[in-house]
Amino acid sequence: MQIANIVYKDEARVAVRRDGNWAVLPSEWNHTSLRTTDDFIRWPGSSLSQAAVMDMAAPLPEGGCTWRPAVIHPEKIFCIGLNYRRHAQESGLALPDSPVVFSKFSNTLAAHQEPVPLPPASSQIDYEVELAIVIGQQARNLSVAEALQCVWGYTIANDVSARDLQMKTSQWLLGKSCDKFLPLGPAIASADEIPDPDSLDIALWLNGESRQHSNTRDMIFSCAEIVSYLSRVWTLQPGDVICTGTPEGVILGRPLDKRDWLKAGDEVRLTIEGLGEQTTRFVAPDVSAS
Ligand code: ZN
Repeated sequence: MQIANIVYKDEARVAVRRDGNWAVLPSEWNHTSLRTTDDFIRWPGSSLSQAAVMDMAAPLPEGGCTWRPAVIHPEKIFCIGLNYRRHAQESGLALPDSPVVFSKFSNTLAAHQEPVPLPPASSQIDYEVELAIVIGQQARNLSVAEALQCVWGYTIANDVSARDLQMKTSQWLLGKSCDKFLPLGPAIASADEIPDPDSLDIALWLNGESRQHSNTRDMIFSCAEIVSYLSRVWTLQPGDVICTGTPEGVILGRPLDKRDWLKAGDEVRLTIEGLGEQTTRFVAPDVSAS
């Protein structure tokens, strides 16, 4: 099953998809709000069978909705840096001995098809297609063998990066957490649809030109290793998002004279096997004061 946040008839709602059909859930069930995927993941009824959930939903007319970010209120957004062997090589950096962990704030969340304004503070904006893990249950101190049991599902992330801001100091936060720098979605596929997250084709196109094309099996740390590692430091909560790193092909990895940083009008299309397709158009900086 897939779940997504949408605006439907001017209301925030959750869409569900099974066997190719999208449907919209009621906004509450037994006095519990079901307006976001985060609500749904935390809702005790989410353990109902997928057929029972689909029975609660009404058919969604084609083109009758606007997408929202795949998760709305994550407590934590983790990112793993340099997690693909060939991306570490193109960055000229040694393969890490343990996962490189950084974070983005929730101001970075953006939806599939939502325009992303280029931040005026940067002139070196880059893309990063990534497999994102969405946590389904509170969990800590998980072994690698049990780690994926707490995962609700997977979605597509673009870890948009302002390289000049990122490289200004040893801490990457500045360049990673600009407004709308994490288009996420369109939908979250439940873990049963993605039995092996460490073997998925992953790709990105810039204005129709293939730029990143790899497979998650090039990851240095597997999804289970990443979840286990983080769970030994933090209590993971339902709705937490973990971006697992990007493969080679980012603009930063190109020769100096071929670094065509993103500009207004550029469009990126991201795909991950089993998770569909995400598109984002970058637009001129928003320089208004509020
Ligand atoms: Zn990244």
